[in-house]
Amino acid sequence: MNQDTLHRILFQNAPVKGELVQLPNTWQTLLSTNQKRHYPAAVERLLGQMVAASVLLSANLKFDGSLIMQIHGDGPIQLLVAECRSDLTVRATAKLREHITVTDDMGLKQLINGNGQAHFAITLDPNDKMPGQQPYQGIVPLDGDTMAEVLMHYMHSSEQLDTHIQLASTHESCAGLLLQKLPLHGGSNTEDNAHIWDELNHIAQTLSDDELLNTPSDTILHQLFWQYPIEQHTIQDCQFGCTCSPTKVSNMLTMLGKEEALSMVKNGQVDVACDFCGQEYILNEAQIHGLFEPDAAQKAAAQLH
Ligand SMILES: [Zn+2]
Repeated sequence: MNQDTLHRILFQNAPVKGELVQLPNTWQTLLSTNQKRHYPAAVERLLGQMVAASVLLSANLKFDGSLIMQIHGDGPIQLLVAECRSDLTVRATAKLREHITVTDDMGLKQLINGNGQAHFAITLDPNDKMPGQQPYQGIVPLDGDTMAEVLMHYMHSSEQLDTHIQLASTHESCAGLLLQKLPLHGGSNTEDNAHIWDELNHIAQTLSDDELLNTPSDTILHQLFWQYPIEQHTIQDCQFGCTCSPTKVSNMLTMLGKEEALSMVKNGQVDVACDFCGQEYILNEAQIHGLFEPDAAQKAAAQLH
């Protein structure tokens, strides 16, 4: 049985939905593809929380495309990216500044926003983009001490929806729980609804990080919410997956421009490794020239491996 699943629940007679994700195998695959870098524990923890969050948010929006969470940090972490596609394949990467010390007790602020200059964006890149259409991007204020707090504030201010988010990550796994109060429709009893939300939210907060990471999903949902009938319960598999390709590498080099692309040539070739999965793409000098000469371009693309 795949342990990496997203459970989605909708409570009966209560305008509240929930999501629970556990990603032990996805996280192990992701870390092993990033192995060359060996992230310090504090960085790994934050990245794992962001990976779990990307799945929760992607599923929450139910939109057809990629959800990309990206932080440009001003501290030890220069860049943190987690991406989840609508089929729940995820990839992620972290880039650290050189010659810095990261201690185990460093939290979100010290890692990315020590000087208040960090930039956090969530991008929604649809699959069926119209020509020239730009992806939607929302700026996330870094308001909170943890990734979960920052995202709860964001959901509250951007969607006006009360949301509870818990994120947990260790070297072994990462996981997340989301509970959200849905907008009310006509005829509902507002007071009762507020009451049920308060109860469910309170119960959700009794879950420890250790339980979230290590107790089977079905058991967690039963232990927390057995008193509340569930109307819908769906389960979807999650896994690691990278979308890099020779075409994307060629496009990236083309966008850099001929001069810069050629400046990357070493020993007669350009060696590009994917930041997310480590896959190497090698182009020789003739192929680089081919990218900038339309006639030769097709030939070069055909030779690319
Ligand atoms: Zn890749």
